[in-house]
Amino acid sequence: MEFRLEGSRIVFDAHPQVSAWFSTRRGGVSFPPFDTLNLSYGVGDLRPSVTENRRRMLASVGRPLDDLVMPAQVHKNHIEWVGSEQRGRGARGRDPIPATDGFLTQSRDVVLGLGFADCVPIFVTDVEARVVGLLHAGWRGTVAEIQRLAVESLTEAGIPARDVLIGIGPAIGPCCYEVDEPVRAAIVHTVDASPLSPKDETHWWLDLHRANRILLERAGVLAEHIVEAPFCTGCRRDLFYSYRMERQVTGRMGGYICLQGR
Ligand SMILES: [Zn+2]
Repeated sequence: MEFRLEGSRIVFDAHPQVSAWFSTRRGGVSFPPFDTLNLSYGVGDLRPSVTENRRRMLASVGRPLDDLVMPAQVHKNHIEWVGSEQRGRGARGRDPIPATDGFLTQSRDVVLGLGFADCVPIFVTDVEARVVGLLHAGWRGTVAEIQRLAVESLTEAGIPARDVLIGIGPAIGPCCYEVDEPVRAAIVHTVDASPLSPKDETHWWLDLHRANRILLERAGVLAEHIVEAPFCTGCRRDLFYSYRMERQVTGRMGGYICLQGR
């Protein structure tokens, strides 16, 4: 298992029967400040550009845009099981699955998609490729333990934690992610102090990858079944949009995962 840069995508190579990837800002049609592969309709970009960019992302694995399912993300911890009946919801910005920050599916008919700027994308599958999932974990989703809830939901579906494979995708790294006391306190309360390092009297650097890895391992995922993408969205502005580093007027990346072999 590994993440690697392939053209305009960061591909997560988890299982031969699973396609999983994260977009870069390269290879799309949007104009500045959304140049070029912005995947969000909600940031002020031209709608036809976003639709074309999304179409390209799905076409990269040979799937039509209408296979995509996307939610309205709210930085909480609700996870929705998606089936073929949800195919196309949110794909063109209309009728997304409401108030959801995580998807799981056993259907081969859908491609799961979520939007990201600096938050952590967590890709989920298992050793037999019976399921795929994708989670959106900023600090709020992380301390709301969306990753533990996903593992518990899989266990209820008959997929034990020891079989779960996880890819923690490109996100803002501890080199760039400064947080204040309320966030520090929430991380210490839910995780421990190890993802934090002091910056000054009132601010800390937060390693959200590490926080999520700790919570996933605590939920029973094997350490050797978790890989982390070696990219910081704040440092690599040639590759990524960064909500925090670009004063908030910028595009969004997308994370995608699907079961192959429909
Ligand atoms: Zn950085």
